[in-house]
Amino acid sequence: MGSIQVSRGTRDILPEEVIYWQHVEATARQLLHQAAYRELRTPIFEQTHLFERGIGEATDVVGKEMYTFKDRGDRSITLRPEGTAGAVRSFIENKLYAQGGVQRLWYIGPMFRYERPQAGRQRQFHQIGLECLGSTDARADVEAIAIASQLLKSLGVPEWTLSLNSLGTSEDRQKYRAALVNYLNQYKDDLDPDSQDRLQRNPLRILDSKDPETKEIAQSAPNILDYLGPDSKQHFDQVQQLLTDLDIAYTLNPCLVRGLDYYTHTAFEFELDELGNQATVCGGGRYDRLVAELGGPETPAVGWAIGMERLILLLQKAEIALNQSLDFYCVARGVEAKAQALLICQNLRKNGFSVEMDLSGSAFGKQLKRADRSGAVACLILGDTEACDRTLQLKWLQSGEQETLPQADLNTQTNQLQHQIAAIRSKIST
Ligand code: ATP
Ligand code: MG
Repeated sequence: MGSIQVSRGTRDILPEEVIYWQHVEATARQLLHQAAYRELRTPIFEQTHLFERGIGEATDVVGKEMYTFKDRGDRSITLRPEGTAGAVRSFIENKLYAQGGVQRLWYIGPMFRYERPQAGRQRQFHQIGLECLGSTDARADVEAIAIASQLLKSLGVPEWTLSLNSLGTSEDRQKYRAALVNYLNQYKDDLDPDSQDRLQRNPLRILDSKDPETKEIAQSAPNILDYLGPDSKQHFDQVQQLLTDLDIAYTLNPCLVRGLDYYTHTAFEFELDELGNQATVCGGGRYDRLVAELGGPETPAVGWAIGMERLILLLQKAEIALNQSLDFYCVARGVEAKAQALLICQNLRKNGFSVEMDLSGSAFGKQLKRADRSGAVACLILGDTEACDRTLQLKWLQSGEQETLPQADLNTQTNQLQHQIAAIRSKIST
């Protein structure tokens, strides 16, 4: 029988790559904390109905991408395809609105969509997202955008494009939709089949088509910005002004409509041009209607989600180096030395150092070679002599310098060791 492989569209994230994930997660956590966002953890599956209502039946996500199944109690369950619907359900169910003011929430975790897998597009993928609930202020939109932009900057992403649009209120959009359908109907036969299909169900989505001929038709379509009412226009002007004040560059893109139904006013996407076809790394916008739509009190909101796979692909491509090397690698030969080695390693860990103990049982020479390859800053060596004297050899792996130390020094000279290791690390990284 052949060996079993991972399911199509899913993948293992191996330890070398996990370093990148941890780095992105830690950076995001820190920035979100600084911006007073608090983490929310919601279930990975929800009632199918939540997504049908919260995302919209006319969207690709609900129409053809959901992992939906009946559980053993005959309930229709869906693996979450995105995080906003669950966050809003939780906001309503737990009456977070009763705390008053604005709720700033963020989440991280796997999402599931049945799509054709390719680089940067999977069936299980991961998002970090935030939702700011309870404010109509344009500063809420811009704060959210600024956090995403700061995250990319902090991660060392060299360049990106921020596309910006406004979808106005539902009323603005109704008017625009009529004008758009009117325009597109003239070219009905030239549209790609998917777009022809969308003409009645979700015509705005046609603007977002990847088909070249449809794209060209969309270029001359009526511009949604011409259909904004005075309030929508004022909000959008403010967003643009505040972005300029913060020195955040953007490009207006009237074809940016986003896939999900619940957006109002500001819509935005961050694109990393180097990623080719799957370039959108972050998408978001305002969704003032969703909370009420899902049965909560009228609550304006704005949010975004970052696709972690795409972001990490870029970091790896850009060869942004991450250092997670060990402090020590410990090798030992002989029964007594091996026992002492374990004790030494545990004490070092108690003192805050990272240590790998060689467990291979191979000859000293092989153990030392493994120490060289381990990436550790220093190697601790214990043989019979050292075991007998209660000493050890400390070898600095970069320079090859070696010294004999009393084992007790590792406990008493913690600060000095930390400084030495830090100094070597900073020399290596420059
Ligand atoms: P796309 O147009 O690429 O399908 P989308 O509009 O469906 O994206 P959103 O629902 O806005 O995507 O999700 C936010 C982000 O999550 C995307 O910008 C992307 O980075 C990431 N993402 C979405 N779907 C996938 C997927 N199947 N695999 C990997 N990342 C994804
Ligand atoms: Mg999609």
